Amino acid sequence: PHDNHDTDKQRNPMTNWTLAARAHKMNPSVIREILKVTEKPGIISFAGGLPSPKTFPVDAMLEATQRVLTQDGRSALQYAASEGYGPLRDWVAHDLKKQGMDVHADQVLITTGSQQGLDLVAKILIDAGSRILVETPTYLGALQAFTPMEPDVVSVDSDDSGVLADDLRAKAGQGAARARFIYLLPNFQNPTGRTMTEARRAAVAAAALATGVPVIEDNPYGDLWFDTAPPPSLSSRNPEGSVYLGSFSKILAPGLRLGYLVAPPALYPKLLQAKQAADLHTPSFNQRLVAEVLKDGFIERHVPTIRALYKQQCEAMLAALDREMAGLDFQFNRPAGGMFLWARLPEGVDAVGLLPKAVDRGVAFVPGAAFYADHGDPRTLRLSFVTASVDQINTGVAALAQAIREYRT
Ligand code: PMP
Repeated sequence: PHDNHDTDKQRNPMTNWTLAARAHKMNPSVIREILKVTEKPGIISFAGGLPSPKTFPVDAMLEATQRVLTQDGRSALQYAASEGYGPLRDWVAHDLKKQGMDVHADQVLITTGSQQGLDLVAKILIDAGSRILVETPTYLGALQAFTPMEPDVVSVDSDDSGVLADDLRAKAGQGAARARFIYLLPNFQNPTGRTMTEARRAAVAAAALATGVPVIEDNPYGDLWFDTAPPPSLSSRNPEGSVYLGSFSKILAPGLRLGYLVAPPALYPKLLQAKQAADLHTPSFNQRLVAEVLKDGFIERHVPTIRALYKQQCEAMLAALDREMAGLDFQFNRPAGGMFLWARLPEGVDAVGLLPKAVDRGVAFVPGAAFYADHGDPRTLRLSFVTASVDQINTGVAALAQAIREYRT
């Protein structure tokens, strides 16, 4: 499928590019492709993965921009250290105490979104053919970051509380074939919205330690709980064997492209070298801006407003699903935080097949099969409850139920 096209060559000799093997492994994000179809005007979309723009602290940003540029403008616009801006690294180290983590600011690397953290981890830990373990299903963007390094991606069986510790043990591998890491999303997972219980965290951390498989813990949604904070992070149980990834995308704004990772001293220098090669450093202006916004406890005032909004939206979607899907054998979970819920269609209804019918009726979602490293369940789908209004949620869920009924007849 990757052959050069002779006709193109005749037209333009500069089409003789020979792609690297890793480039052949890259794929367009299935979700971005789907979003193109669903971005028609008037479509109620439960498909996107975007936070609600209502939650972006525009006024606080505006004031902080003014202060950063007046007080510190020339430094803010200069090249800066690859590790990140000191006060921001300090803030992160301090903030992680609430997750039971005892982190020194020296272990914090500011990244250009946590997506870059995934890319750096992939670069320093994966050789072609290395085994890596992922949840079933898992975050599609992580698979996109990992696959160019040509790993052997192995899915670990999972249930409503996350990966199964016994299956982790079974798939860990040994010696040179031992998995380079397991990638885990313990809180309000993308795509399922599920959270690992405290007991499951203990069992999974013990299995990882016993088998010698390091943990890459990705936690962009952990602060978005509705009623109670999730249990302490997995990394808190084995800091030497973990890399923790965090993000400002869901608690401030994704357009800032600000994330961070926390790595043990044994790994940090290599991640830093990979970071230098990737982009020298994360934009210093954005880092100073956010450090300015965060001082004086802004997050403690701001994040509760996001939680309240998302909780209300989630409840609206659950109530609409209870009402509209009655009698339809449509299963769905009840997330305790985050942005997504996960559902399974009635027998005989395929999510990819349903999508065009749903779009015709004015509603969109993401078919779940995209989120599996292998053997996707064609009946699953992901619904975001954060960007549509409550009215739109009611209309959209009713339209989805109609599309399912239509598909079945
Ligand atoms: N990890 C997960 C699980 C995500 O859902 C996302 C964003 N959708 C990211 C990482 C990347 O986030 P960012 O780069 O904006 O920090």
